[in-house]
Amino acid sequence: MVVSGSDLQTQLRKFLVELPARADFEFTKATKHDLYRALYVAITNQGQHLTSLFPDISIDELDQLQSQQLQFPLSLEPPFKVFYNTLKQTKYTHLPDKACAKVFAENEAVYCCQDCGFDDTCVLCGYCFNPDDHVNHNIYIYKSTGENGGICDCGDEEAFVEKLHCKCQIPTEDEPETIQEDVSELAPYLRDTIAVCLDYILDVLNMSVLALPMVHDKIDSSGTITTKTYSDNAVLSPSKRYGDTEDVNSDEWLLILWNDEYHNLQEAIDSINAGTGVGDSKASEIAYKIDKEGFAILKRDPHFENVFGAKILVEQGGLIATVESSRDHFREEIVKYMFKWFEEILNFKGNVEFRELCKHVFCELLLAPSHEVSTSVDVEPFKSGSLSDHDYFINGFQYQGKFKDAGLTRINPDFVDALEHPISAILDANDDPSTISHSRLQYLLAYQIRLRKSIRMKLGSLLVPCLVSEPDTKMEFSKQFIEMYPMLLNMMALTDREEHLNLLADISSQIFTCPNSVQYILREDLLRNIIGPLAALIERTSTVYNEKTGYHSFYDIGINSQKKRAIKLAIKYAIGHLTHFASSGLAAGEIKAFMNDDTFRLYILLLRNFQSYLLMKRKYGDHVERDSDDFMLHLNFFFPVVLEVKQVVELQYSNPKLVENAEVLMKYLFARPIEFSQPGVVKFQVSKEQISFANPLHSLLSFMIEYHGINQFIPTLQSYSQKLVEIADISLRSVVLGSQIKVGFWIRNGLSATHQSKLYFSSKTCDVTYYRDFHIVQIAALFGNDPQKTLTNILDRWELLPWFLNQVSYSQTIYEERFVTISERFIVFIYNLITDRTFLTVETPTERARRMLRTAMAYRLCREGKSYTFLRYKIESNLPTEEIDKVLYSIADYQPPSSLTDSGLYRLKEAIYEELDPLSVYLDPSKFQVISESIIKNVARIRKIKEDDVIIQPRITRANYDLVDNNIGQFVKTQMFAKLIYKFLQVAIDTSDETYLPQLLHLIHAILLDDELIHGKEYLNPYFVDIPISDLLLTIVESKMSKYVIQKADYLVDLLVVKDKRVLESLVDCFGEDYIQSYKKRKSALFETEVERKKRLATERANRIMRKFSRQREQFLSKNKDLDADLDNDDKSEVEGHLRTCVLCGEQESVDSPFGILASSTKAATFWKIPTSKHDQVANAYKKWDKSIAYDESATTYGVGYHFNAENDVPFEFPVVSTCGHGIHYECYKRGSTGLTHYPCPLCHDLHDMFIPSYIPSATNRISDRFLHGEPQFTRYNMITHCIDATSKINNVVSSLINEEYLNTEQQFDAHRMVLSTVLTRIPDRTKYGTGNTKSESYFYLLLAYSELIANTIRMNEIATRINGEEAYSNFLSQFSGSTKTLLISLVQGRALAYAKRDSPALLGTEALFQFEAERFWDSDSILDSVFNDLVALFFQTGESLATLTTMGMTKLLAVSLYSILFSCANNPGYEQYFVSETDVNIPDKHLNLFKGFLFQVTEMMEIEVKPVDSQVVVGLYLGIEHLMGVFLRQVVILADLLTSQVQGENMYESQPQFANLQAAIEDQSRVDCTDALTASLSVPSFNQLINTLLTGDDSSFENKIFEVTFLSKIPKYFEKGILNLNSPGMVHLITLPHDYNASLLNASDSNTHDKSICLFCSTWISNSRQPSHMATCASHTGIFYTPSTNTLRLNVHIGHSRIPLDLEGPYLTVHGEVKPRRTKLKATLNEFRYLCLNKLWLNQGLYGFVTRNLFGARTVDDLLGNDGNTSPFEDDSEDMDEDDETEIRGGIFP
Ligand SMILES: [Zn+2]
Ligand SMILES: [Zn+2]
Ligand SMILES: [Zn+2]
Ligand SMILES: [Zn+2]
Ligand SMILES: [Zn+2]
Ligand SMILES: [Zn+2]
Repeated sequence: MVVSGSDLQTQLRKFLVELPARADFEFTKATKHDLYRALYVAITNQGQHLTSLFPDISIDELDQLQSQQLQFPLSLEPPFKVFYNTLKQTKYTHLPDKACAKVFAENEAVYCCQDCGFDDTCVLCGYCFNPDDHVNHNIYIYKSTGENGGICDCGDEEAFVEKLHCKCQIPTEDEPETIQEDVSELAPYLRDTIAVCLDYILDVLNMSVLALPMVHDKIDSSGTITTKTYSDNAVLSPSKRYGDTEDVNSDEWLLILWNDEYHNLQEAIDSINAGTGVGDSKASEIAYKIDKEGFAILKRDPHFENVFGAKILVEQGGLIATVESSRDHFREEIVKYMFKWFEEILNFKGNVEFRELCKHVFCELLLAPSHEVSTSVDVEPFKSGSLSDHDYFINGFQYQGKFKDAGLTRINPDFVDALEHPISAILDANDDPSTISHSRLQYLLAYQIRLRKSIRMKLGSLLVPCLVSEPDTKMEFSKQFIEMYPMLLNMMALTDREEHLNLLADISSQIFTCPNSVQYILREDLLRNIIGPLAALIERTSTVYNEKTGYHSFYDIGINSQKKRAIKLAIKYAIGHLTHFASSGLAAGEIKAFMNDDTFRLYILLLRNFQSYLLMKRKYGDHVERDSDDFMLHLNFFFPVVLEVKQVVELQYSNPKLVENAEVLMKYLFARPIEFSQPGVVKFQVSKEQISFANPLHSLLSFMIEYHGINQFIPTLQSYSQKLVEIADISLRSVVLGSQIKVGFWIRNGLSATHQSKLYFSSKTCDVTYYRDFHIVQIAALFGNDPQKTLTNILDRWELLPWFLNQVSYSQTIYEERFVTISERFIVFIYNLITDRTFLTVETPTERARRMLRTAMAYRLCREGKSYTFLRYKIESNLPTEEIDKVLYSIADYQPPSSLTDSGLYRLKEAIYEELDPLSVYLDPSKFQVISESIIKNVARIRKIKEDDVIIQPRITRANYDLVDNNIGQFVKTQMFAKLIYKFLQVAIDTSDETYLPQLLHLIHAILLDDELIHGKEYLNPYFVDIPISDLLLTIVESKMSKYVIQKADYLVDLLVVKDKRVLESLVDCFGEDYIQSYKKRKSALFETEVERKKRLATERANRIMRKFSRQREQFLSKNKDLDADLDNDDKSEVEGHLRTCVLCGEQESVDSPFGILASSTKAATFWKIPTSKHDQVANAYKKWDKSIAYDESATTYGVGYHFNAENDVPFEFPVVSTCGHGIHYECYKRGSTGLTHYPCPLCHDLHDMFIPSYIPSATNRISDRFLHGEPQFTRYNMITHCIDATSKINNVVSSLINEEYLNTEQQFDAHRMVLSTVLTRIPDRTKYGTGNTKSESYFYLLLAYSELIANTIRMNEIATRINGEEAYSNFLSQFSGSTKTLLISLVQGRALAYAKRDSPALLGTEALFQFEAERFWDSDSILDSVFNDLVALFFQTGESLATLTTMGMTKLLAVSLYSILFSCANNPGYEQYFVSETDVNIPDKHLNLFKGFLFQVTEMMEIEVKPVDSQVVVGLYLGIEHLMGVFLRQVVILADLLTSQVQGENMYESQPQFANLQAAIEDQSRVDCTDALTASLSVPSFNQLINTLLTGDDSSFENKIFEVTFLSKIPKYFEKGILNLNSPGMVHLITLPHDYNASLLNASDSNTHDKSICLFCSTWISNSRQPSHMATCASHTGIFYTPSTNTLRLNVHIGHSRIPLDLEGPYLTVHGEVKPRRTKLKATLNEFRYLCLNKLWLNQGLYGFVTRNLFGARTVDDLLGNDGNTSPFEDDSEDMDEDDETEIRGGIFP
């Protein structure tokens, strides 16, 4: 009995019921305001705390609310400013002990932690995610689509395995927690108000039935009630809940058109026009409104008949319209705004406590049981005749105040053993109405289809988050949901016009993913509420009865009506729901419910819908079937069902109920009618009759027997031994069907058949399809008691019996020319039946899974190494990852990645090859050949024998169960089978067709082996003697068949002969005595006596020795011949051996035609300067080189980039050149590049933009010692820089580096001049110091730029060597590749020629000496970037020796660096701290004291007050300066080595001893960073000698003069020009990255960075779109960015002015050497090899080549530059990887 509650409730109800009439039945904006006002007045008990909830409410407004309460006059217009619209926005938070449940908006970041979350659906919002909770965890962040109703799970204890510390609960300093008013005293009013609203909503919906299909179809027709009468009666009953109010109906009628997702827009517009005649544009406006809101009012009229007439017109096109009174419609508007109001208070932003209180009360009221609606609607008059239970059920009507539960969930006791009947006979509805709680929620679920679209769309996110946010509520919610499930499923399928909005999906995705709920449902035996109704729904709506099978078979009902679409979707959903209950994680032990008597029977009823469904029949003739996609049914319905079967049985493998249930199942299967052609042999023809692949019940039976263990079923199976064939034949038919399709026998049936057979055998699914059928056939063969019958039946099913019985010849079978291919598959099938007994072993599911996995992996790896992910993707296993890895490691070895883009590989261990069998059941028969070859190759390699001697052994996998092992092969040991073999052999010999021969021989081999295993080595099956198989084998040996076949046949003859003497007799009979004697001789080992054997062995040994001798002699002879040939060749010129070949034309280079190498000019950003103010980079610059600086395993955060945030803007980018080293003729280059600047090397595809001429070096001449080590000619700094007498030195360089033949005559050289001049115009930065006023000044600058290009390229390469860490101190010379050396030598050649040949008109045209130009330049304000640049420039300009210039450079460098460092120390207190050295550096006191003294002298000169006295600082300064000196000396050494190397071949050089031995000399020093070995190799004073000279030597010495000028004149002069900016001697590298991938994500997880990339040069975070503008201010030429969220690197290079990006996956790799797959728990760390490789490529400009090479392949540059970005250059060809493997290597294990 409904009673009215408090006074407040009474008042509010009265307000609501009277509102329509008071508002003249028109719901306006003002009505909405009045409604909200009433609700807020009620919920705050007339305005209490209203100021706290709505701070902006005015005093007047408040006064009014409080005085008028609910008796306020209705507004005409809503006020301009409404209090409830001005909510205060506070920082987002939720109550500490409550769940967050924030619904994700579109594009909001969703945080997921795989270590903390219960599963992948457990996520956090950005407000709750606290990085501190997830250190070292696997996290990922993605953007929400905002569509699937995802919520933040923070605070849900079930969602996380660990307690999390919600970030929004931690007060931030800048936002002190606002204290919110305590509103708890509002609780009772809250309850009253929400209750009234909910009740009102349900009462209105209870009556709102007009659009329900059944009502809509019947109402207003004869014999039923009319809409008008119905509406007049539909009053909110005054007698009950709504007290003394009066609910008057309006006398205005509305025509309402409802949303319909099935009809398209045009159809809607036409219908609207038909009913209203409004015209197309208005009609389409209305149609859009319907799409948004779910309905539209088409017409209003006081006369019902007018509206009704229009309704008929509108509905002609199939749309749904209703006629409603204005009052009824008004009530629905109130309902709409009540939902909106709920949405508002349940997400109330102004007061957290209020919001949480509302949620709590809302849930409580929703879930409270035993609700009743105020009016009981009399539904009987809706239909003439009475309504069935089903009608009540699917429309959500109540019968006597209760829902009718007509879900078929109970087995009728009379039909427990008669499951073959229609489901309506077997199943009963639940007739106990008390099983449904009748809560408000359940009413709402039943009424959801009566709501309009706009409300339905939001209903899920309104209800579900609240209801699941607390465990108790969630449990009650689950219970009530599953009670309603049968009704909801049926409603969704049958009555819902908007099935995709049905809450079934929203709710089940929450409830069925929760272990507690799932286990509750299983425990309470409520699984029947899903299985029963689902089975019934399928049978009723989507099956056809097949008389032959006796089954109602599932079929595709199509989607050509809304109704069919809804049915299909509902079935698909429910099948999906069921899978949750078979998940071990969710269901745990409760999964046993599946084996309950009734549930198991229900399960059979469900599966039987798919038993033999999708029947097909072979088509004949020319007609080609229109391709059908009905195989999609397999994917969408069948496989989910049958995979679940496996899972259920696997998890219940030890349940003893399996035996009992298997009998129930078998009894049901025996009920299928089967015809016999003779006892034990079934009458059926695969190629003639209807047949199907789907045997889910067979799969169920097979799994039950396999998992529980065959030994448990022996009595059962034996008792049915006669009948088993009836079950097995169904399986056998599918196997034959699949095989026939595979050999092309069903070609007319088109793609559907092909796809189905593919799925049947596919590695991913065959464990639930093909293997099951295989297993069932095996069982029948094992327990059937007549082997002959078994074989006959199998042969008959394969349609080979007529041939076997000699009724037709091999060429006349139904297969015709396909006889050999179908025979091949038949033979393999038989082979597998007897050899693979793994499904008949007794093992646990884990053992099984391990074994299956091992086998599958071994065959996958058989041919080549594979990556870890490939294996994991191809082979599914439900074993935990550690187990999978263990299995993998046991059979394969790891090979790490070896480039920037490849991945680690696993290769099969050698020993495993011996276990493989090319006919394994895990392989498709078509793989026989390739797998055989691979096994033979590897076994030969492992055993070190010839491939010809490898005979692959059949692998018999024993069941280790005698009953199985001794009997499985019975049917092949029969005389009948021996005959069969004979016949097969005979056909092969007659036709010389060996298609199936290797397999047949392997089968014979296997039968012999099996007999050996049972009876011992000596045994031979007598039928193998009786039937002269050996004769045919020997015939094969004598034939011209392929090697492998002959060898195997030979081997088998041997086996037979050894086993039984009679075999030999038979052979003699057949082949004659003579022949067999010669055979015996060949096979002497088989027949001889011991004496004979020894004699034979002795002879063989003697022969072997003789052969060895003769081989040696032959070799000796052939060697001499070679030697002679070599001598002949020696006449030719020595040079030729070193000549390069052109990559385009393949001709060798010659002095006649210009030749060169391809080079690219880039800007290297590696010329780092040391900050002169305090900065982390100062310390880094002086740090000893160490690999861990660039790749730090302990790094947990991102490193700081170059000059990040520093004020320093000294240039650090200079042009350099790099090359792939490949040579090309100039003419060929011109031809190939067709005049374009950018040209990819024809050989390696690296892009190049320069041609650098390269000359054959001189064979004999060496650079004169004078120019290397000579004494200074001048001693004054300026005199040296002004000196221009380079002519003799340059001539010497030219003659020592260039073959004299080029220069024999001027005519000879002519060809080269033009090339040289063209190349000079490509020198970058050639006008950097000025364009020059005269021709010769321009030329001087050009030569200077050329020198600088050489200097910078040497420096760039030297800097690149440092990334190798400590070893780089000594091995830097050997790190230079031959091609780099070639490039540098070519540059030097060109630089020398450009001077020596300047008089050529093509060049300068005069022999100018540049005296004026040199003076002018060196006296100008310009300075070169480093002392080494000075040295190179002066080397080519002056006559001074390299040693002189080196000493000068050292002195200058000493002066500048000391000045710079001391100056920085003086100006930046604490700067000297960067120089505090480690204490254990061993520098002799002698040297330190000298240095100290010198330091003192310098500080005096600089007049610096504070002097470095701390001895550790002095040591640090000593080392620092020496480091600066060291890199300069290294650069000089590189130059000197270039000048003196001897060419040995293409890109091969031999250094002079002092450089060749330098590495050892450096390593021999007490410190590797000591410079003594470097100075010694250059024959210049050492660092200490230099200091000594400067401190104690003669003031007029060379060094002293240079030092003084530098210190006193040059530094002051160039002070402003940046002379004090020192080049960093440190390890230049990309920023260090966190070692762990998750740390890289976590460090970038806040809202600022989570979707950005970090610049690896300067460590700035930037969005992808801003990368180009960032590069303009950062490293401009080459940019490298790392994006943590995707674990990718983006490389940007420039081709001309175009920026070309290339994305590289994963600097972070897993332990398997692969990019971390997204959302897996695999740990990924920064791969050392890759990161250092990237650094190296960045340092030596290899990135340019790398990117362009990866971009182009064979494409041309213009294709790329010209493309508009639509075509991606990164076409992924990995898609078609091993398409065949997919289907043909089996071993799939499905979880
Ligand atoms: Zn949250
Ligand atoms: Zn939280
Ligand atoms: Zn975590
Ligand atoms: Zn060429
Ligand atoms: Zn190349
Ligand atoms: Zn940057």
